[in-house]
Amino acid sequence: MERQVWHILSGEEICRTLNVNPEKGLGEKEVERRLSHFGQNVLAEKKGVNPVFLFLGQFKDFMVMVLMVATLISGLLGEVADAITILAIIFLNAVLGFVQEYKAERSMESLRSLTAPEALVVREGLDIRIPAADLVPGDILILEAGDRLPADIRWLKTANIRVDEAALTGESQAVNKTSRSLEDELTPMADRRNMGYMGTVIVSGHGTGAVVATGMKTEMGDIAGMIQNVKDEETPLQKRLDQLGKWLVTISLAVCIIVVITGTLQGESFSKMFFAGVSLAVAAIPEGLPAIVTVSLALGVQRMVKRKAIIRKLPAVETLGCATIICSDKTGTLTQNQMTVRQVYCEGKTVTVTGNGYDPKGDFIGEADFREKSVFHALFRGAVLCNNAFLSRKGIKVAGIFRGRNKSTAWGIEGDPTEGALLVAGAKAGIWRETIERKEERVGEIPFDSERKMMSVIYKNKEGLKAYVKGAPDSILRLCTAELTREGVIELTPQRIKEIIKANDAMAGQALRVLAVAERKLTDLQEESVEKELVFVGLLGMIDPPRPSAVKAIKICRQAGIKPVMITGDHKLTAQAVARELGMIKGRNQRVVTGQELDKMSEEELGRIILDISVFARVAPKDKLRIVTALKKKGEIVAMTGDGVNDAPAVKEADIGVAMGIAGTDVTKEASSMIISDDNFAAIVAAVEEGRGIYDNIRKFIRYLLSCNLGEVLTMFIGTLVGLPLPLLPIQILWVNLVTDGLPAMALGVDRAEPDIMRRPPRRTDESVFARGLGRKIVINGTMIGFGTLFVFIFGLWSGCGLPTARTMAFTTLVMAQLFQVFDCKSETKGIFEINIFSNLFLIAAVLISSLMQLAVIYLPLMQEIFQTTALNSWQWLIVLLAAGGPTMVLGVLRLVRNVVYSREQYV
Ligand code: ATP
Repeated sequence: MERQVWHILSGEEICRTLNVNPEKGLGEKEVERRLSHFGQNVLAEKKGVNPVFLFLGQFKDFMVMVLMVATLISGLLGEVADAITILAIIFLNAVLGFVQEYKAERSMESLRSLTAPEALVVREGLDIRIPAADLVPGDILILEAGDRLPADIRWLKTANIRVDEAALTGESQAVNKTSRSLEDELTPMADRRNMGYMGTVIVSGHGTGAVVATGMKTEMGDIAGMIQNVKDEETPLQKRLDQLGKWLVTISLAVCIIVVITGTLQGESFSKMFFAGVSLAVAAIPEGLPAIVTVSLALGVQRMVKRKAIIRKLPAVETLGCATIICSDKTGTLTQNQMTVRQVYCEGKTVTVTGNGYDPKGDFIGEADFREKSVFHALFRGAVLCNNAFLSRKGIKVAGIFRGRNKSTAWGIEGDPTEGALLVAGAKAGIWRETIERKEERVGEIPFDSERKMMSVIYKNKEGLKAYVKGAPDSILRLCTAELTREGVIELTPQRIKEIIKANDAMAGQALRVLAVAERKLTDLQEESVEKELVFVGLLGMIDPPRPSAVKAIKICRQAGIKPVMITGDHKLTAQAVARELGMIKGRNQRVVTGQELDKMSEEELGRIILDISVFARVAPKDKLRIVTALKKKGEIVAMTGDGVNDAPAVKEADIGVAMGIAGTDVTKEASSMIISDDNFAAIVAAVEEGRGIYDNIRKFIRYLLSCNLGEVLTMFIGTLVGLPLPLLPIQILWVNLVTDGLPAMALGVDRAEPDIMRRPPRRTDESVFARGLGRKIVINGTMIGFGTLFVFIFGLWSGCGLPTARTMAFTTLVMAQLFQVFDCKSETKGIFEINIFSNLFLIAAVLISSLMQLAVIYLPLMQEIFQTTALNSWQWLIVLLAAGGPTMVLGVLRLVRNVVYSREQYV
């Protein structure tokens, strides 16, 4: 579509130009046609990595280049077979590195697509959620506070829409939007009040709009490159490993230089020693480490997706494993958000409502009169009118009286479950919004927000204007001056207020979520005259059962040393009752802090009590920020959930900001480091478990790689220092590196988490990579490998079987010791006899393949020639296997004895 001056057209003209029915939206065929014509609604993105460059990048390493040049020279000087083999090994190593890095890159790409934005559109008469990339001009968007506009739109309907356009215009004040057409064609972009622009954020209200431009044709497209994406941030561990890598390079180079010099002084030829030195350097530097770390992070993140946690910022994976406190919303996260009205308080009486779920079948037990002018009628009238939800069957909105028909189709609701529950209760009383709206028309709305804790609508009928208000009872009662009774409107006395509060507390004490309904006759449409001097009508108490999975997750949290904290906008007693059902608090005496109490507390006071509180009730989103800050000051690592726009600052401030996938707004999602796709608390705990598992795996292969490399370096270093012939030839060293660093290390990166992973306390964030005995284990294991290999080499020489056989024995010992050792690295607390060594089939396969490769090198004649190996006989094998497997077995026995004796887990 050409660039049009959309702002001067009326709503109808817009829809005519865009050829769309604003009620029904576009049809599937038309969408396809437009999609192929206009293309996807995406901004030009940076290109992914080119595989060719990625492969060539493998040869950029300094030591690899030195090795290649040296090999080429030696090839030219006549050592052709050697040179070809070394080049082949370097090539294979590059392929391995490429595969690792390519996989890492691809996994990161697929993560980016997971967090792609979505949009709610009307298509073929249905409201559906689609990827924002599939939007086309003419689509009708349904938008509300917290949404980031996914394309340029012309507003068709607006209810208090205010938009933050700072991303585009730099204007920090939110702009009020309207659906009316403007007159001046030349109105500058910032003043086009009926237009909405891609990337800007709706701060309040709701409305609909027609898409007028998508992708690079939008205003944002003009300023290309401002796309929101998962950032490829390095995690703290990756940064630390980078540093470690640099240290290892320096140390390895120093050792290699010493090896070269000593070897040459002891009579070996310089060229041979030079090769040995460079090969050792290539082998000793764990060049695969960063890629394996990325792969295991990315694969772990994909496992989290299966458990409903989507990571937006990679560092969160590590922080998750350190979480000490999880602050969670109540409604929908700890509870099912499947509300059913159970009790009604009206005319001073409490009436019970029967029925289940959203099926509008059920009765009122007690005396209730629903005739047109009754107070009960007024209560439900307010509840269904001050309401934006819809009842639905099979996803199709239902308006009207459908009692009892078509029993097979399940009832559902579209919109806020709290409001849905009110519609269902209204339907049980025979009161439907759609029937009332035949005579009354909605002319105004002040949307719900968690700060005010209420929502109001204004309806117009023959008699004039009337406001219906519903919200948290304490907030509403504060504004009420009168009460509706059978006798008409009377003054609300302090005595009656007490009675109402008592009725509210009784419901809240049974874990019911209570809403109050009030009304007010109006003389004008001014917003300011709505929420004051209200007439109280009644209370509705609804049940929102705890999620069974949350109960389990809370138990797991406790075992894992993580404290779950509930932060809710709901009433203190409701919060307390639900917290008890969830097992978050025990008994009635545990303190619950309310938003009001928080307001009165200084930062110091809050700091003093904060660690003792598990439930915060009636809090506003701004309090969440205070809570996070106070907890962080105490050194806690805090995960905090959020959904609404106002939650974004707290979510951003938390160590792990968690946004709700279903209820969450775009703004909160963007502020978060993780999104929970099913809004369930259990998913956060699952993510913590995965986070711990990933970190464990990273430690496993760091331990494996470094101890193997240490073994290799020690063999060569001590061998040459004590004047032995070169224990391993350069080509053999390179082979060891290829066989052991590749597959087994990668397989360790995807190892299963240990069963006790959620029975340990959280890790400290400032913990070193080598903490908890990892450094010691690396030294012990590396030394065992090195000395074992040297022992076999010396034994071979001593037994008189000749240098090539002694080398073959040492060479095989080095490989086999590493393949045994890989199983020891599977657990930090248990030895080889206490773990299930078959739990990771990749690891078994990797070890088998590596063993077969080693057998090929010592038994195939061609390989024997290239690698200067000999076939080993059985007693030589016996020595090799004893030296290679012995240390792992001995360690296994020691750990077994220790674990049995102490029968508790300790780190060796
Ligand atoms: P949580 O913070 O655990 O999600 P919550 O849903 O109770 O709990 P808010 O959404 O901030 O928190 O709601 C605060 C209070 O506002 C509720 O306890 C309820 O009394 C009232 N309320 C909730 N939804 C609506 C609504 N749609 N209209 C009017 N009042 C509402």
